[in-house]
Amino acid sequence: MRVGTPIAVDQVLSVNDWMTSAAAAIEAEADHLTQLDSAIGDGDHGVNMTRGMRAVTAALADGDAAAPPGERLILAGKTLVSTVGGASGPLWGSALRRGGRALDDAAELDGPALVEVLSAALAAVQELGAAVPGEKTMVDALGPAVEALRERLAAGDPLDAALAAAADAADAGARATTPMQARKGRASYLGERSVGHQDPGATSTALIVRALGSALVPAG
Ligand code: ADP
Ligand code: MG
Repeated sequence: MRVGTPIAVDQVLSVNDWMTSAAAAIEAEADHLTQLDSAIGDGDHGVNMTRGMRAVTAALADGDAAAPPGERLILAGKTLVSTVGGASGPLWGSALRRGGRALDDAAELDGPALVEVLSAALAAVQELGAAVPGEKTMVDALGPAVEALRERLAAGDPLDAALAAAADAADAGARATTPMQARKGRASYLGERSVGHQDPGATSTALIVRALGSALVPAG
């Protein structure tokens, strides 16, 4: 045996770590999210998401420690739906539930499985909210993130690098909502006055995607 040879350890994602890290990021940015929502909505987005993500981390901590990742995502989604009154609760809640169902009873959440989870999540958001890209919603952050993750993994990037690219794509997507006119949700009531403000839901979505990078654990 050669001493000092680096051992390649496959990495997978921990749903609990993802949600804990996302909750911390949302809480740290809650005031900013609320400011963004005050400009084009009703100013509750930071509060909504903080309340929801706190409930999610509590539910997961209390949940079955042996539950597979799909079951955990479904629990997270149900918790968001039942604790968040605003649009973002049902939307992210459905996203996580659908993502969890896509995993079925898979034992681990690896890169290709995450592509399936996030694709299913995006489909759920679009089905429930009927938003297409360019309408100044969370779709504008989640869509580019899924695309970037799929492309980077297909190109052979390791999972951590692919996750960083997905997070950058989500950030860029959130920033790109600023010049858009809102066509869905409460911000659409403002018509042209919604132009010039970054979408709060796209902004929190980018935080949730970025949190994936803090959820890598060794496989097995
Ligand atoms: P509410 O608008 O009910 O107060 P939140 O403030 O929590 O809910 O969330 C607002 C965010 O939800 C928006 O910034 C937008 O990203 C997202 N959103 C609203 N409606 C839709 C929709 N139909 N499709 C996708 N996302 C939407
Ligand atoms: Mg709001």
